[in-house]
Amino acid sequence: MPSWDRSVDFLVVGSGAAGMTAALRAHDLGGETLVVEKSPLFGGSSALSGGVAWVPNNPLMAGAGISDSAEEGLRYLESVTAGSSTTEKLRAYVETAPRMMLTLAECSHVHFECVPGYPDYYPEEAGGKKGGRSCEPAVFDGLRLGDELERMRLIDKKNLILGGRLTVKVADSKALMAGGWPVARFMLRGLFSYYTNLRARRKGLVNTNFSLGAALAGRLRLSLMDREVPVWLDTPLQDLIDDGGRIVGALVEREGRPLRIQAKKGVLLAAGGFERNLEMRQRYQPAPTSDRWTAGCEANTGDTVAPALAKGASLDLMDEAWWCPSMLIPSMNPVRVVIYEKNLPGGVIVDRRGRRFMNEAEPYNDVGKSMYRANTSEGLAIPAFLVFDGTFRRKYSCGPMMPGATTPDWALPKVLEGNFFEKSESLDGLARKIGVDADGLIETVRCFNEFARTGKDPDFGRGDSLQDRYYTAKAEGPNPSLGPIEKPPFYAVKVYPGDLGTKGGFRTDARARILTDSDEVIPGLYAAGNCSAAVMGRTYPGAGGTIGPAMAFGYIAAEHALG
Ligand SMILES: Cc1cc2nc3c(=O)[nH]c(=O)nc-3n(C[C@H](O)[C@H](O)[C@H](O)COP(=O)(O)OP(=O)(O)OC[C@H]3O[C@@H](n4cnc5c(N)ncnc54)[C@H](O)[C@@H]3O)c2cc1C
Repeated sequence: MPSWDRSVDFLVVGSGAAGMTAALRAHDLGGETLVVEKSPLFGGSSALSGGVAWVPNNPLMAGAGISDSAEEGLRYLESVTAGSSTTEKLRAYVETAPRMMLTLAECSHVHFECVPGYPDYYPEEAGGKKGGRSCEPAVFDGLRLGDELERMRLIDKKNLILGGRLTVKVADSKALMAGGWPVARFMLRGLFSYYTNLRARRKGLVNTNFSLGAALAGRLRLSLMDREVPVWLDTPLQDLIDDGGRIVGALVEREGRPLRIQAKKGVLLAAGGFERNLEMRQRYQPAPTSDRWTAGCEANTGDTVAPALAKGASLDLMDEAWWCPSMLIPSMNPVRVVIYEKNLPGGVIVDRRGRRFMNEAEPYNDVGKSMYRANTSEGLAIPAFLVFDGTFRRKYSCGPMMPGATTPDWALPKVLEGNFFEKSESLDGLARKIGVDADGLIETVRCFNEFARTGKDPDFGRGDSLQDRYYTAKAEGPNPSLGPIEKPPFYAVKVYPGDLGTKGGFRTDARARILTDSDEVIPGLYAAGNCSAAVMGRTYPGAGGTIGPAMAFGYIAAEHALG
């Protein structure tokens, strides 16, 4: 074999949550570790995300007075994955993730806080919980990264609340739905802390008091910096190198030069999904599809698939994604994900016939699936339309539209009307503008208003589950998820079956080792996060159900490789 340009014990491909967690663990187990990252920025989708990790029986639950156990977590996961994952992997998850969280809290900057009231996405299933398993990263001062802050992937600041000036935690978001003075107080306090953070203001406009995924990526990166684990940016993986069937290294490109990196103990592929690769989407995902509907990181183009397939890797769940409806905002990228707008009273989602086709408040992963199911030749549900009335508009935000009470229509950016939303004084007029059957829409709204009065949605059961009622407003009627659509003007926004990233990839075992079609392990080759077939199968168990397993299986891979 030709000589190596660099030799390490453990090579990690990708600097998202899976990759950085694995690198941290591998280093702490004594392995010389290197992270190679394709883009000039570290963090991947993990840095753009909510940063929430869903961990059953996590060490923070006891402090919040919530009981849980690995058995309950496993029972729940077996129930909701319904055969689309394996018991061995689910067991490995419920056993490892709490231990990982504890070790990270003790040995690194990666600290989480429990969100006690955030229910599992199917809290009524066996083993489901009303809260506590979803944990968010503690707020993090980005200035602690020093110059490395410049190299962190950050959400386009135009897309954040008040131009990125506020630090909003997941735990705050429910309270913020209530509106009124508490929200005004929150905003004022937030703006005060933003403008008085003089060290950060000297560096520019970006709010460096990070919450959500930015806090997670920042905390992981700082922990790697403490350990002097190198993260080579602008260094894409190009190929894997094997010796008699064992993966012993990789070919990467750095500063325009190919480099051969030896990985004595193993290579972990943690390069995210293929959400930004249109050709792969068209090949594997349900139609119609687009690389513009995803909120995932632009560098996630499935680059590791071809090299690993050439070494015998097998794939699974390639037709799946972490579905999450999205709205496209002219002149703004990334897209806006529709997490709460779909649940709020005074709004419905309809197809071209003007008919509802799902419980809009169901978990966003299920909304994506419902949209594809409903996209028949009669229904045409892609795109669908979120229709709401003047009361909704006055009280709540919708994508880039802040509540009308503070930002009336005349104060919105001009580009939005006609591009992002349509508006009319009547439902009939609105239907004509958006190309939806007017009689269908009027009838749907008439029925829905009746459901709002009785508090029961006999068609789709909206608001029946505790989950439906998490992201919604203060109860005004008998069901906080339902409210009449009656006050003009009426509005409509297009909704697409977007995603937070794809979740199909390499089939792995409970130790994150990549398997061949005949279930043989490929020695030395591991996968975690969105480039592996999701441990959670075809479901999304709760908020944090993608980052939790990404981190845990990165951790498991490092432990296995380093012995
Ligand atoms: C807006 C948004 C909100 C979300 N909120 C949550 C949440 O709160 N909780 C949750 O669980 N999930 C959430 N998700 C989903 C979650 O962010 C992802 O599923 C998760 O971060 C994937 O982690 P990863 O480590 O697998 O990939 P990523 O974090 O995407 O990292 C992959 C990295 O690999 C790099 N890479 C790609 N190709 C190569 C190559 N050839 N060589 C080297 N490097 C390469 C990429 O540049 C990237 O940096 C959210 C996603 C979005 C977009």
